[in-house]
Amino acid sequence: MFAQRIDQAREQMAADGIDVLMLSVGSDLPYFCGYEAMPLERITMLVVPRDSAAKLVIPALEVARVVQRDEVFSLRPWSETDDPIRMIAELAGPAETVAIGDHMWSGFLVDLLSAMPNTSFVRASTVTSPIRSIKDASEIERLRQAGAAVDRIAGRLQRGEIELVGRTEAEVSAELGRQILAEGHGRVNFAIVASGENSASPHHHAGTRVIQANEPVLCDFGGTYFGEDGVGYCSDITRNVWTGDRPDREYLEAYAVLHEAQAAAVRAATVGTPAEQVDRAARQRLVDAGFGSFFVHRTGHGIGVDAHEDPYIVEGNGSPLVAGNAFSIEPGIYQSAKWGMRLEDIVVASETGPDSLNTADHHLAVLG
Ligand code: ZN
Ligand code: ZN
Ligand code: ZN
Repeated sequence: MFAQRIDQAREQMAADGIDVLMLSVGSDLPYFCGYEAMPLERITMLVVPRDSAAKLVIPALEVARVVQRDEVFSLRPWSETDDPIRMIAELAGPAETVAIGDHMWSGFLVDLLSAMPNTSFVRASTVTSPIRSIKDASEIERLRQAGAAVDRIAGRLQRGEIELVGRTEAEVSAELGRQILAEGHGRVNFAIVASGENSASPHHHAGTRVIQANEPVLCDFGGTYFGEDGVGYCSDITRNVWTGDRPDREYLEAYAVLHEAQAAAVRAATVGTPAEQVDRAARQRLVDAGFGSFFVHRTGHGIGVDAHEDPYIVEGNGSPLVAGNAFSIEPGIYQSAKWGMRLEDIVVASETGPDSLNTADHHLAVLG
C-alpha cells in the first residue's frame, strides 16, 4: 500500500515537474511510509527522488520506532555529530525543484535553502493533496469507524448521560476527551464545549464557565483512530443540547433552519458537484431565513489523516467533488453575546450518493 502511494506521488511529481519530494513532521509522512516523526529539534526526512529509491533520514536514536519497509524506503540514520542537512542535500542531488512538507519546521527549511542555493522549493501538498483527498475503501472504513465512535459519545450526550449542569466547560471537555480514547481513538484532537453565550464563538476554548440549567451547550469533538499500519484517521462531530425543558423560542426557530441547511448541503454533496455549490446549498437556507450574516465560516473541510485537509467546502473552490472525497458539512449560526449553534457530520462523496458517516440524532437534544 505504501509503495503504491509512493508510486502515485512519483506520477504526480512527473506531472508537476518536481524532482524530489521531502516529507518530515506532519501527516504526509505516515500516509506515505507508515512512520510518524516526532516534532523534535532533530530532523527526520523522507527523501523521495523522482527516479531513485526513497531514503528516510532519521536521528539514530529514533530508529527503534521505525517499522522497516524495504519496498518503500531504506534508512539513513544520523548520529549526534553528523550534519543531517548535508545528508539530505546530497540525497537530493542537483534538484531544480523540491516539494517539501508544509508542516515541517521553518528552521530546517532555512538551513536547506542555504545548503541548496540553486533549488526552488514548493509545498509538498501540491503533490500529496490530490492523492490524499481521494480515499480508498479501507480509508473510508477507518473514517467510518472513527465516526461511529464519536456518534456513540454524541448519543450519550443527547440522552443526558454526560453530566452538564453544574460542571465547568473544561470538566465536560476532559470527559469527552476520556470517552474519545475509551471509544478506540489513539489521540484526542479537540473537544470544544461552549455553553450559554460562549457558544456564539465558533472555536471557543472550553473554560471555567459553569454550565447552567436551560441554556445551549455546543460540543464539537474528535480524535484520531489508528489502524494496524500506524496510520490514523480523524473523527469530527458537532451536536447541540439544551440543558432544561424550556428552550428559548428564538433559538429553537434558528435550530430548525440550521438543521434544514445542514441536510440540504449533505444532499448537495454528490460526485461532480463543485465544492462551492455545497457551501451555497447550506448558506442559501440561512440567508433566506435572515441568518446569512450569522454564518461566519465556510461550510466544511476535508478530513483524513489530518483533521483539516483538502477539499475545502467553500465559495471559490470550483473543483467538482470526486468519489472518495471525505469532508465535513458544518454550517452554524452565531448570535454574538447570546448563543451559537453548529451541526456537523463527516460525509463521503460516493457514486451512490452522499454517504454520511455520522448518524447521531440531528435534532436539538432537549434535556428536560
Ligand atoms: Zn472548526
Ligand atoms: Zn468539528
Ligand atoms: Zn470540522
